[in-house]
Amino acid sequence: MNIRKIRKDFPILDKKIHGKKLVYLDNAATSQKPIQVIDAISQFYKHHNANIHRGVHTLSEEATKAFEDAHTKASKFIGSTFEETIFTKGTTESLNLLAYSLKDKVKKGDEIVLSQMEHHSNITPWQVLAKQKGAKIKFLKINKQGALDKKQFSEVINKKTKIVSLAHMSNVLGTINPTKEIRKITAENNALFILDAAQTVPNIPVNVKKLDCDFLAFSGHKMLGPTGIGVLYGKKHLLEELPPFQTGGDMIEEVNFKESTWNKLPWKFEAGTPNIAGAVGFGAALDYLKKIGLETIQNYEHIISQKLIAEFDLLDFVELYGPKTSRGAVFAFNIKKLHSHDVATFLDEAGIAVRAGHHCAMPLTSTLGINGSVRASFYFYNTEEEVMMLISELKRIKGLLTK
Ligand code: PLP
Repeated sequence: MNIRKIRKDFPILDKKIHGKKLVYLDNAATSQKPIQVIDAISQFYKHHNANIHRGVHTLSEEATKAFEDAHTKASKFIGSTFEETIFTKGTTESLNLLAYSLKDKVKKGDEIVLSQMEHHSNITPWQVLAKQKGAKIKFLKINKQGALDKKQFSEVINKKTKIVSLAHMSNVLGTINPTKEIRKITAENNALFILDAAQTVPNIPVNVKKLDCDFLAFSGHKMLGPTGIGVLYGKKHLLEELPPFQTGGDMIEEVNFKESTWNKLPWKFEAGTPNIAGAVGFGAALDYLKKIGLETIQNYEHIISQKLIAEFDLLDFVELYGPKTSRGAVFAFNIKKLHSHDVATFLDEAGIAVRAGHHCAMPLTSTLGINGSVRASFYFYNTEEEVMMLISELKRIKGLLTK
């Protein structure tokens, strides 16, 4: 991987912030976009823009092909099939779709299992469902290292469990969760296994057939694509059973004055005019990532992570949350006695973009016994030099504190 060449594809990385070179370490929130993605969207609007699936004219056929090609690319990217790959607005909409469409599978007294490290979008849709149905939500606990102890799986997941929905990787702790063990125990108990893969699909090879999950959700904007486009994968027989989330144009087969029948998969779950240009940009993002290779990205981010962990180990004023192994390149930490927002503001003055606060994981923040944290999250276009810039700025901030 030629990092210098790669960085040239990302125009924004040349930007100066407060007169300093931008160091973008907020990739878990959203990634930057290469010129190939920006151009694909612009080319679509310049040369192919039309609505899809409805027109017989040439432009509409071109737009339809571009949109469907993006579905094919997304399905291949995660080892699924065209029919099983639904485009949504992103992970949040995918999980809301599921919680809505699975409503008939959950009844009073049933249990839904999540973990303490979930993003709000994998908590709130289930809370709404549980409230409507009189079901109970149980949370798998994290240990001191910020990982899930496997011992608890058989205690928490049982015959009452209907759904287990879990972050594949925590957007705060960086923990990569043990899917094999969870899959086994959900299958033994006839429960559905859902993965929130917003943080893994951009960074590590993900294959839905190997994971054997029932459903999986992710967002295009965290993997070089535009905002407003993402994926819900579901096993075909399950998607066929479920009622649609939204109804209206394009998702129907036939409508009369009394009732309607639904279109085939995946269109049954894609009501209305979709984000066509977004899908085209997403397709270009998938091409870009595929060219580099997810294994290459994973290995590179591992090197970056090891470097950061080694440097953090030398800083006694930094408290790092999350495990040191089985993790991705997302690091939440605090400088002792400083508020995370203050640290992030100091870093911004140095051109370093990080996130501060609860990172849409308030229950996790309170479990950790903190009121927030600073989060530095890396992608394959970040460099070891940028790791060192973060470290030296943290030292400078600490120095200011002791003056
Ligand atoms: N789940 C996880 C683990 C995330 O990190 C995020 C975004 O930060 C989401 C869900 C929500 O993604 P989106 O806002 O793209 O729907």
